[in-house]
Amino acid sequence: METEKTDALIKEIGELKLQLEEARDTIDAIRTGQIDAIIVEHDTGHRLYTLKNADHTYRAFIEKMTEGAVTLDKNGIILYSNSRFASLLGISLENLIGVPLLHFFPEELKKEFNKLLQTGWLEEAKAELELVGHGGKRIPFLLSLTPLELEDGTAMSIIMTDLRAVIENRYVLQAKNNELEEAQRVAAHLNKELQKTIKERTRDLLISQGNFKFLSDNIPVIVWTANANGEFDYFNQQWIEYTGLSAEASLDSNWISAVHPDDIDRTMDAWRNSFLTGSEFETEYRLRKGSSGEYLWHLAKAIPFSDEDGQVMTWLGTKTNIEDQKQELAKKDEFIGIASHELKTPLTSLKGYLQLISSYKKEEVPPTIRQFTSRANEAIGKLANLVNDLLDVSKIQTGKLAFSKSPLSLNTLVRSCADNARFMYPSYNIAVEHAADVILTGNQERLEQVIMNLINNSVKYSPVNKEIILSTKVDGESVTVSVKDFGIGLSDHQKDRIFERFYRVDDKNYAASGLGIGLYISAEIIKAHQGKFGVDSKLHEGSTFFFILPING
Ligand code: ADP
Repeated sequence: METEKTDALIKEIGELKLQLEEARDTIDAIRTGQIDAIIVEHDTGHRLYTLKNADHTYRAFIEKMTEGAVTLDKNGIILYSNSRFASLLGISLENLIGVPLLHFFPEELKKEFNKLLQTGWLEEAKAELELVGHGGKRIPFLLSLTPLELEDGTAMSIIMTDLRAVIENRYVLQAKNNELEEAQRVAAHLNKELQKTIKERTRDLLISQGNFKFLSDNIPVIVWTANANGEFDYFNQQWIEYTGLSAEASLDSNWISAVHPDDIDRTMDAWRNSFLTGSEFETEYRLRKGSSGEYLWHLAKAIPFSDEDGQVMTWLGTKTNIEDQKQELAKKDEFIGIASHELKTPLTSLKGYLQLISSYKKEEVPPTIRQFTSRANEAIGKLANLVNDLLDVSKIQTGKLAFSKSPLSLNTLVRSCADNARFMYPSYNIAVEHAADVILTGNQERLEQVIMNLINNSVKYSPVNKEIILSTKVDGESVTVSVKDFGIGLSDHQKDRIFERFYRVDDKNYAASGLGIGLYISAEIIKAHQGKFGVDSKLHEGSTFFFILPING
């Protein structure tokens, strides 16, 4: 009994295997185009479907397509699927063919698919829908529906395009698009800002240009500007009125034709030097007045304007008429010249008579008179120094400050000044720091005058700290002599002016007598020795005045 059953089962299995193989062969045959029909079992029994015009090439082409391809019958059952569609869904062909395609749509899309199918039977239709593949995986497809004529009715051909890559690209594209939009938005914003800034700047520039022109045309000085190349590109109304030259005729370097011929070289040198070094320009020259042809003295100044990188962008210059001051100075010089000469003669006789009195029967002169005589001698000495200084100024002005030069020892010169100063200022501590001795060519008396002037100033302008240091430094071909004090010091502005004739610092807290000519004379003496004069100083900390002389000068 058992064996009968087993035999029956084995037989049944064998038959089923046979049926399965047959089914596989049929599907393969249809797929590869060997046969044109398929038998599908329905509730109503087996049915045979045939494909019109189905030929080998068509099948082979469909099989090789990268898209999925399915054919449905009127009931939406899959009659045919290419292997690509099966692999896209991850479902075997056996489990696809004969199954309604609707089966592979998620619940919420089933209605939509049915509607699409209905439309598809009437006309070609397309839609993007998701299908559910192996393991519930949802895959987006583009379904392109085309009704096909079959021998026993119509079938629906659907091309299934896998949209995953497209959607992925769409996302990427969307993201890129978003980025682009954002960048465009930022760029548009920046552009707007820039336009606003440009508008404001242009307005500011117009206003400031207008202001500048208005100002420069209405101030009583000549104003000009030059570009970064040093070419003059603007002259104000005052220039045109004063010189009688049009702005065009003055451009580039043509303005120089209005400068006195004797001052041209000096002026051009100073301007070239400022232009090349980017430093402030200042000089004095005579400028021809167009209406009368006379030359009047002007003080010319210019400052460079640089960008953030320190590159000079433009120059702004002024020329101020200083003819009156020059004439006053000339009158002062003339007066000083006459007065010092007129004073010199009676002073010399006064000095002589005092000497006679001092040496006249000393033992017979009462002590009080002797004391008065000595005081009178001191006063006469001071007066003589003043008159000599005034004479020197006048000589410098007329180019007559001449002196002879001979070899002299630097150390002897400095030592004698220090000894002299110690005698004159016993309350001061005057130190000397000597370098190795050198022999200079110069005028001993005049150089002593310079050093003594520096020491006198140190004493005068350092009333509290009584330390003074005289030092010498030998440096290759030159020597430096300096006098250092720890007194009231000088500001940068004061430092620039102290070598000017008659310049004195106007300090309300500290008043010392003087004419403001000592440094001027000293500087001229050093200049006549082919040397240089200088000062290092800090306000309230002290000053070091120095001069440098060439050893073989
Ligand atoms: P003055 O007769 O006024 O001293 P100088 O020509 O010798 O004339 O000096 C000019 C000015 O320089 C002085 O009025 C003073 O303000 C300043 N000066 C000169 N030497 C010193 C110094 N050692 N310390 C501070 N200021 C000084």
